[in-house]
Amino acid sequence: MLFETIVGPIHSRRLGSSLGVNLLPLQRKVCTYDCIYCECGWNKETERNEIKLPTLDEVTTLLEERLKELVAKGVPVDSFTFAGNGEPTLHPQFPQVAQMVRTMRDKYYPNAVVTLLTNATQLSRPEIFDAVLKLDNPVLKLDAGTAAMRAAINKPNKPENTFEQLVDNLVRFGNRCIVQTLLLRGENDGHAISNVSDEEFAEYVEILKKIRPKYVMLYAIDRATPEKKLEKLTVGELESYAQIIRNEGIEVKVYG
Ligand code: SF4
Repeated sequence: MLFETIVGPIHSRRLGSSLGVNLLPLQRKVCTYDCIYCECGWNKETERNEIKLPTLDEVTTLLEERLKELVAKGVPVDSFTFAGNGEPTLHPQFPQVAQMVRTMRDKYYPNAVVTLLTNATQLSRPEIFDAVLKLDNPVLKLDAGTAAMRAAINKPNKPENTFEQLVDNLVRFGNRCIVQTLLLRGENDGHAISNVSDEEFAEYVEILKKIRPKYVMLYAIDRATPEKKLEKLTVGELESYAQIIRNEGIEVKVYG
C-alpha cells in the first residue's frame, strides 16, 4: 500500500488523530531498509517507478490547503506525523520541511505534536541529527539486539549503515527519543526468525539500558506484510516483554 503526500488525519493506535506527511514518491518506496513486515511492500516491487520527490514548496502548499479545510470543518489533529512510502529523512530538504511543518503546527494546531517515524539510519548526518532533535516526538526504530537479527528483520541496503553506528546514534539521543520496536517471530527465506527469543531479547534490553529513551513503543504486526510467514504477537505476550524492560526502570507503552 502506497500513500499520498498528505494523508488523513487517520486514527493511529499510537498517535491519536494523525495527519501524515509523506515526503517520498507516490508510486514508489524509497528506504535504506527493506523490513520483512513493511506495509509498503518490498523495495523491488516499486523500484521501476520514477523517484519523483515533492519539493518543499509543493509540500507547503498541499499541507496548508489541507489544514485550512480541517480547521474550517473543526477536525482535530493530535499529531503531524512524518511517515509514508519509506524513510522521511532521505528527502534532500528534510531539515527545511521539518521547520516548515513546525511553523504550520504553531499556526493551525498549536497543541499538536510533530512526530517523526524514522529508521534512524541517517542520524550520522549532523544536519539530520539536529533537525530530528528539534521535533517533539522523534520515534526511532530499533527492532533487534544484534547486527545479525537487524540484518534479518530490517534488511539494510547500505553497508555503511552499521548496527554499531545505529546504536551509537540512539545512545546519543538518549532520553530525548522514543524507541519503537516491532516484536515478531516467524520465518523468512526458509529461516526461523524471532526478536523475542531469550537470547535476542536480552541483547535488545542491554541496548535499551544504554539508550535510556523517554519510553519504548512495543507493537505487533497490524497490517498485511510482504513476508507472509510472520506471526502477530498477542497483547499478553507484548505485555510480558514490556515488563522485562520496565524491570530495568524504562517506561514502555504497548500497542497490540
Ligand atoms: S524502515 Fe519503515 S519504510 Fe523502511 S522498510 Fe522498514 S517499515 Fe518500511
